[in-house]
Amino acid sequence: MKKVVILGSAGSIGTQTLDIISRLPEMFEVYGLATLDEVEILAMQAKIFRPNVVAIVDEAAALEFKNSFEGDLPEILTGAEGVEELAARTDADIIVNAIVGSAGLRPSLAAIREGVRLCTANKESLVIAGHIIMPLVREHGAELIPIDSEHSALLQASLAGNSREIRRLILTASGGPFRSKDIDLDTISVADALQHPKWSMGPKITIDSATMMNKGLEVIEARWLFDIPPDRIDVLVHPQSIIHSIVEFVDGSQIAQASMPDMRLPIQYALTYPERRPSPIGTLNLAEIGELTFEEPDFLKFPALLLAFDALEAGGSSPCVLNAANEAAVKLFIEGKIRFSDIARTVNRAMAAHEIIAKPSIDEVLALDEEIRERTLRDHAR
Ligand code: MG
Repeated sequence: MKKVVILGSAGSIGTQTLDIISRLPEMFEVYGLATLDEVEILAMQAKIFRPNVVAIVDEAAALEFKNSFEGDLPEILTGAEGVEELAARTDADIIVNAIVGSAGLRPSLAAIREGVRLCTANKESLVIAGHIIMPLVREHGAELIPIDSEHSALLQASLAGNSREIRRLILTASGGPFRSKDIDLDTISVADALQHPKWSMGPKITIDSATMMNKGLEVIEARWLFDIPPDRIDVLVHPQSIIHSIVEFVDGSQIAQASMPDMRLPIQYALTYPERRPSPIGTLNLAEIGELTFEEPDFLKFPALLLAFDALEAGGSSPCVLNAANEAAVKLFIEGKIRFSDIARTVNRAMAAHEIIAKPSIDEVLALDEEIRERTLRDHAR
């Protein structure tokens, strides 16, 4: 029986992780749950899954949880430190990090230092600190298993050979809701951008998919997870979202992973890896789908993707600036303060103004992250 901690349990990945755990009761039990402030959902989850510990970042929300919870209260940790403490609990075997954004970095580091299995949907921590995370994973004998569907596909496909035999990683991308539309990117509304054609996800990642910044962040994530230089990582637009990514080996073989687009599959694989178990995911019927199509990404229409490749090539603190400016710009867009097309412009401006730090420390990365986000938000406050 594996004890699982879910950080960000109230979100899209968190709730789907609990769905998978409820279907595999002989394999997994919930040890801990963490949320920023979603205490209603947390209370519901705690009643069903009976975790030993919960962590609630917001102090007022934690008090509300404590006062309103019916039944035996679990241990309650509070603040960002509480989440970090939960991630470092040695009683747990698996930490699922489903926190959105750079707030996921310290909990990831805490889990890695305990040498556990870290299943991560938090791509931002690898984007901003991959150069620190990967050596730490090796040093502590931890396991880092991606939950992102593309990286799960790459992991699954990579098992067809050894790592030295990998020539190229090909990340597929749905292209988001605006791929085929002849649309003025300046006029896109928040509601339009929140309509993803294939995947059901949280708002931040859905906007990132619409700008294709999500794919850019995933390229950076793949660079670290698989230790492959950026010139050997390609993006391939595949609107049907059936092939989730492809590994090309030195002999020219391309091994692809295909399945219905359902995040519960990569979540379950990360939990059960290297084993496989029956899952609730619908059977893929290729005859019914009939046609799978592929095309080059349009870098002119989606400059965010190009910015991500630029940041990866520039290295050092550059991906951190890319990510922080993007987080702030997405927030501004959702609040109606900037246009859709301003997201990439905002990121570009932040990157151009930044003097790169070659090998930033964790403290430097986190300080820079905060500084860039605050400055980006402040510049638009007027
Ligand atoms: Mg993905």
